[in-house]
Amino acid sequence: MTINSYADIEAALRAEMVLCGRLLYERGLIVAGDGNLSARLPDGSILITPAGLAKGMLNPEDLVVIDHHGQLIRGSPERQPSSERHLHLFVYRHRPDVMACVHAHPPTAVGATLAGVSLAEPILPEALIALGPIPTAPYARTGTTEMGEAIAPFVADHDAILLAYHGAITYGSSCSRHFTVWSRSSIAPAPTRCALVRWCPASPSGTDCGISRNTACFSRYGTDLMEGRKT
Ligand SMILES: [Zn+2]
Repeated sequence: MTINSYADIEAALRAEMVLCGRLLYERGLIVAGDGNLSARLPDGSILITPAGLAKGMLNPEDLVVIDHHGQLIRGSPERQPSSERHLHLFVYRHRPDVMACVHAHPPTAVGATLAGVSLAEPILPEALIALGPIPTAPYARTGTTEMGEAIAPFVADHDAILLAYHGAITYGSSCSRHFTVWSRSSIAPAPTRCALVRWCPASPSGTDCGISRNTACFSRYGTDLMEGRKT
């Protein structure tokens, strides 16, 4: 492969990821600095969105390149890789077929986890047709390597995973395919809302899965986010 072809591939991926970020934002699947996108480059390094920026308003040069340990290889000195990069890296490490990952905070998907509604159950025919059962991974604190460990039981056999009390991650052979996946499964179609309305009265209340222990972290994270240091 020539240097030019590599550059062309990277440039195309950057443009595709910027477009995906904007579409995710416009569809209400992310807000503010939420979410992150990544893609595998031909040399195996990972192109990923930066921390702290609104993913709906990125420029191609905002993206950075990291190695498989999450260390910055290339990018503007003003940009740091997503704090949730370990979630993406875990997928790439265990799924050689995966070329792109998208992590978002779709409100209805998060609501499903809050309500105790499992999308692994056959309640959404359209989602089952598009993706098969969608498991829910246990809660793991954002920005930690525990995020990868939480999805470990599901990565090999699923292309979409709900993250309890947090969001979801999907992955596939390209960003475009990935967005198609999201379009089908995560935009909160009417059946999902109906399922939530039906199931909410039975949802557990006051569930503490460790979130309360992280109150200080969340507070600090919020401050960092407002000051543009985190995703
Ligand atoms: Zn997240």
